[in-house]
Amino acid sequence: MEKLLNEISSECKAAFSVNCDVEIELNIPENYKRNGDIGLPRVAENDLLRHFTNLSGKNYALSTTFYPLGSCTMKYNPLINEKIAKLDGFNDIHPLQPAETVQGALELIYNLEKDLCEVSGMDYFSLQPAAGAQGEFAGLLIIAKYFKSIKQKRTKVIVPDSAHGTNPASAAYAGFETIPLKSENDGTLSAQKVKEILTPDTAAIMLTVPNTLGVFEKEISEISKIAHENGTLLYYDGANLNALMGMARPGDLGFDVMHINLHKTFSTPHGGGGPGSGPVGVKAFLEPFLPVPRVENKNSKFVLNYKKSKSIGKLKAFFGNFPVLVKAYAYIKSLGGKGLKNASVQAVLNANYMLAKFKEKINVPAGNRCMHEFVLSPKSVLQNGVRTVDIAKRLLDYGYYAPTVYFPLIVEEAIMIEPAETESKETLDQFIETLDKIIFEEAVNEPQKVKDAPVNTSVKRLNEVEAARKPVLKWK
Ligand SMILES: *Cc1c(COP(=O)(O)O)cnc(C)c1O
Repeated sequence: MEKLLNEISSECKAAFSVNCDVEIELNIPENYKRNGDIGLPRVAENDLLRHFTNLSGKNYALSTTFYPLGSCTMKYNPLINEKIAKLDGFNDIHPLQPAETVQGALELIYNLEKDLCEVSGMDYFSLQPAAGAQGEFAGLLIIAKYFKSIKQKRTKVIVPDSAHGTNPASAAYAGFETIPLKSENDGTLSAQKVKEILTPDTAAIMLTVPNTLGVFEKEISEISKIAHENGTLLYYDGANLNALMGMARPGDLGFDVMHINLHKTFSTPHGGGGPGSGPVGVKAFLEPFLPVPRVENKNSKFVLNYKKSKSIGKLKAFFGNFPVLVKAYAYIKSLGGKGLKNASVQAVLNANYMLAKFKEKINVPAGNRCMHEFVLSPKSVLQNGVRTVDIAKRLLDYGYYAPTVYFPLIVEEAIMIEPAETESKETLDQFIETLDKIIFEEAVNEPQKVKDAPVNTSVKRLNEVEAARKPVLKWK
């Protein structure tokens, strides 16, 4: 570990050099200063330790079990990257420090932007957005501002029914009207249908590739051509980039704007809603619209440029969630190009291995092959009134986190599984065996047991109707 740390630290040595000569004067007004005890409970150290250890044991985590949550990419993220993000030079700096005192941090942001460009085939990135959805929002604001700048009135954004739910929400939030597009039976989009619904006021098409069925859009080049002929821009939802890295680049496929989820693909664990990062990337003609500040290199010094008259402005305090950027950078540098490609290859292989096992027995509406995830539709094999929700709850009894269920909406009784590249064959086999057992043995012979699940968890089956009708919103 020390060796890896050394290697990575030499890569970004400059990042640790903080010039602490600058004195920052603290002028906190008297009325904001605390004037008494804040009243924290006084407990023995042991009790505190036990309290937090017990709480951590209640947490479901990848460090204890498999987390096949489709669409969320719950993979193992090397702990060493957490350690790197905690190095003093990264951790003890303040975003309000003058740029000349945080040159290393700015260099890291600058270099990470370049690396993301290389992985994705885009020309520029802003690392400011704090999540995938905020990256989408930023991308759509950029698109809106671009059309305004060339004096075209385009008000519509096409979003396929196989897109992630945040896509139509972001489009609406950015002021566009969303136009749904139905996918074909094999889960992909037809270029012909895209052509039919394009109008002169279509600003963009938002595509998730691979889509939420885990399927690659085989007509993507054609769709890109048709869209561009219409003056429409192509938005790439890159949250699933871990299926594609090193194999294809959205920029080469014709996309103009995209976001990446660093907290899915690039080494930040994101269960429990921790800080995320959704960098937004663009082709060169859209660079003037990126959020400010931009980190630029002027005469071998890194500076923050706020003077971008066409920018959509500032999206998030400071430079985004900086520690997430550090982890992404460490991850990219330690894996290298080959390693990133291998991660994708392995993710796709793992998903196809599971798919091949399941599809002998359970309907998989979107076909024969998948990318990094796939969606089962067990409706025809479920007996005795057992439903997908019961299967998911029963998996909890076996110690698994439940897969994503009832999504995407276009698949009946959907179970969406994403094994990620970091799981072993043994883990995948065990999960396959357990799901088989629940569906083909328990649901057949002991359906009540499945319907009553979970029984081994600290909280048993919740009454969802009552929870919705009479929500208890206070804990005391
Ligand atoms: C997770 C995800 C998003 C949204 O990302 P957040 O960081 O949760 O906002 C968007 N699209 C796809 C395909 C995703 O998997």
